[in-house]
Amino acid sequence: TTQIRLTSRPVGEPRDSDFEVGTAELSELIDGQVLLRTIYLSLDPYMRGRMSAAESYAEPVELGAVMIGGTVCEVLESRSPNRAPGDLVLAFTGWQTHAVVPARQTRRLDPAEAPISTALGVLGMPGLTAYAGLLDIGKPEPGQTVAVAAASGPVGSAVGQIAKLKGARAIGIAGGPVKCRALIEEFGFDAAIDHRSPTFRADLEAATPDGIDVYFENVGGPVTEAVVGRLNPFARIPVCGVVSGYNRTETSAGTDRLDLSAVLWQILTRSLSVRGFIVEEFVPTRQADFLRDMAGWVAQGSVRYREDIVDGLERAPEAFRGLLAGRNFGKLLVRVGED
Ligand code: NDP
Repeated sequence: TTQIRLTSRPVGEPRDSDFEVGTAELSELIDGQVLLRTIYLSLDPYMRGRMSAAESYAEPVELGAVMIGGTVCEVLESRSPNRAPGDLVLAFTGWQTHAVVPARQTRRLDPAEAPISTALGVLGMPGLTAYAGLLDIGKPEPGQTVAVAAASGPVGSAVGQIAKLKGARAIGIAGGPVKCRALIEEFGFDAAIDHRSPTFRADLEAATPDGIDVYFENVGGPVTEAVVGRLNPFARIPVCGVVSGYNRTETSAGTDRLDLSAVLWQILTRSLSVRGFIVEEFVPTRQADFLRDMAGWVAQGSVRYREDIVDGLERAPEAFRGLLAGRNFGKLLVRVGED
């Protein structure tokens, strides 16, 4: 197998020199295992946390180890009665071309139901994040206003479209006019606001005449600062991610200092509900509902998705840098092998 290993802990933006490309021998299959060939590797913002030794909800990737990640793979050999060569599966084999894993760590995909890549995006982890975070924590009601940033990505685009299906108004925030146009034309948001525009604050105010009832937090930073001023009493804030800070170093943190007591005062006086979550929390309770609803919505065309596919495993570090800088446009995938 060819693999990309983490060789040093990045400071700020990850560099090519934080990784190495190498090969490794795979072990012989034992009972219950399958040999997999990677077709798609998912690149996701949470991977930045795993590159770092700072305390988080999950252990960091060890130095010298293969970078972790969700994958869609083809079974090449099987010593499990439940998998046969040619099966397509969802797995978690990381940044490599091949892997040997227990068959029970894979989920079979039916390419007749949906394109297999969607298992990493709209019908996968990011989709469930949007679904459960919005419906179970955000709880939008018909006529209310839902705002979300990183709105052209897999989480944000699903948040906006599910909000619309529930009868809410959806306000999307994204970087640049091309993404903003797609929010309206492809994903059906009611308004799209460019956070890079000098008129961002005024544009947000104009687009939210009735305030904001649900702010699905993906980014933090100046976007959140502007949104806070628009929140209605009893607004809900599912805290899903803070991508603007993932490459932050001690020196750059100086520009993002807040007065915690002032924030708590806002929460108190406006009766806000702020609730963080990690998507795994919802797998036992909501995965089945999510797969049923979302597969139906996607099949009907009431939820659309966009993918940004980069060819070649060796381009993963560069593509990952782009993800945290907003250079991706849609769910970022690496095509590692032929589909
Ligand atoms: P995206 O594909 O949306 O990629 C991230 C996007 O963030 C970029 O494309 C960029 O879009 C935007 N962004 C980057 N920096 C900034 C900034 N400084 N200010 C504003 N926007 C910025 O990623 P996902 O949809 O996969 O993930 C979205 C969020 O959801 C992330 O925060 C991620 O960590 C979180 N998440 C959380 C999970 C959980 O369990 N809690 C699970 C899955 C995802 P643009 O060009 O529009 O600015």
